[in-house]
Amino acid sequence: MAGARGEKVTMQEHMAINVSPGPIRPIRQISDYFPHFYPFAPALLRPRPAPLPALPNGPAPETALSSPVEEAQTPTAKAGVSQLPQCLEEQDGDSDETTALGSLEFTLLLDQQNCVLHCTIHRAKGLKPLDSGSIDTFVKANLLPGTSKASQLRTRTVRGSRGPRWDETLTYHGFTCQDAGRKTLRLCVCEESRLRRRAEPLGELRVPLKKLVPNLTRSFNICLEKRRLTKRPSSLDTARGMSLYEEEVVEAAGEERGRILLSLCYSSQRGGLLVGVLRCAHLAPMDANGYSDPFVRIFLRPNTGKKSKYKTTVRKKTLNPEFNEEFFYAGQREELAQKTLLVSVWDYDLGTADDFIGGLQLSINATGEKLRHWSECLARSDRRLELWHPLDGAPPQLGD
Ligand code: CA
Repeated sequence: MAGARGEKVTMQEHMAINVSPGPIRPIRQISDYFPHFYPFAPALLRPRPAPLPALPNGPAPETALSSPVEEAQTPTAKAGVSQLPQCLEEQDGDSDETTALGSLEFTLLLDQQNCVLHCTIHRAKGLKPLDSGSIDTFVKANLLPGTSKASQLRTRTVRGSRGPRWDETLTYHGFTCQDAGRKTLRLCVCEESRLRRRAEPLGELRVPLKKLVPNLTRSFNICLEKRRLTKRPSSLDTARGMSLYEEEVVEAAGEERGRILLSLCYSSQRGGLLVGVLRCAHLAPMDANGYSDPFVRIFLRPNTGKKSKYKTTVRKKTLNPEFNEEFFYAGQREELAQKTLLVSVWDYDLGTADDFIGGLQLSINATGEKLRHWSECLARSDRRLELWHPLDGAPPQLGD
C-alpha cells in the first residue's frame, strides 16, 4: 500500500524517525522492532498523542517488553471507551512476540437468564499484514475446549485497514454459567487474502470465561499473540478425512456431541403435549467439511397407534442450527406423563445412512434437568418451559 502507511521505509529512516523527537528512548524502540522487520509499524510513524515521558516507569526490564500498541491505547482507555477497561494483557515474558501483532477491543456479556453469551467485537489496532498491501480482516470466535467448528462464529470482513472497526456482536446460544466456568473464548483476527485460498491468522487471544460476572458487561483490550495449534485427539475423529491438526481440540467429557433447546407445554385447549425443537448448539461435526447437516427426530414411546414420530427439516452445513419447529401429541396429561420422549439429532447424508450425533430421553425415569422438564410440564397444564439439555452418545432404541 502506498501513501499514509509509508512505502518501503528503510531501517535507517526508521531509526532516524524514532530517535529525532528527543525524549523517546531509541534503544528500546529498536530492540522492540528490529527482529520483526516492521520498520513501517504505523504506531511508530503516527504522531504520538501522549508523549512518552508520561509513562510512569523508566526503561526497566519489564517495560522493554511493552510496545507502541499499548502506548497508543492509553488515550483511548482514558477517553472512557468502556466503563471497565480490563486490559488482561498477560505478558508471559514471551518477549515482544506478545505485543507486536496488534490488539483487539471487545466486550463480553453473559445473559444468565437466557443462556446467551454476547461477544461484541469493536475494533483492532496495529495489525500487521502478511504481505505488503491492503489488509482485509475479520474476527473468528471459538469456545475451547471443543471442536473448532462447533462453536465458530465470525464477523464480516472489513477491508483495507490495519485498524479495522467491526462493532459486531457474535452470540452464543445455550451458554450457561457452568460453561463459563470451564470454557475459554478464543478470538482470532484473520486476514482474508485474494491470493491464498484460506484466511490466515494474524494473531489470537484467549479469555477464560470464568472471569465473567453474569449480566455484567465487561470490556477488554488485549494484545494479540501468535496462533497456537493443538493436536486433535483421535477420539474426536468423527469427521471422515478431517486433518489431524485441523485446529482445535479436546472436548470436556460428555459434552462433545452438543446440546439442544427444547420447549414443552401441555395445552389444555388442544388436549395434548406441544414439543418445540428450538435449536441446537455446538453439535459434533460429522461431515468431512467439518460441519453437519443436522435435523432432529422425536418419538413418543410407547406408540399407541397415533402419530408418534416426527422430524424437523434439515439445516445444511451448520453446527448451531435453529429449527423453531413445534410438534403435537394428543392425549391426556396423566397418560402422556407415563410415556418417554426420545429426542435424537442426526446428520443428514445424501445417498448414505444418516449419522447419529446425539440424543436424550425425557420421562419420569430420567434424572436431573430432564426429569424436571418432563415432570413440571406434565404436572400442570399450559405451563411452557424451555430448557437446554446436553446430548449423549447412546443411540436411541427406536423400536417399541
Ligand atoms: Ca451430512
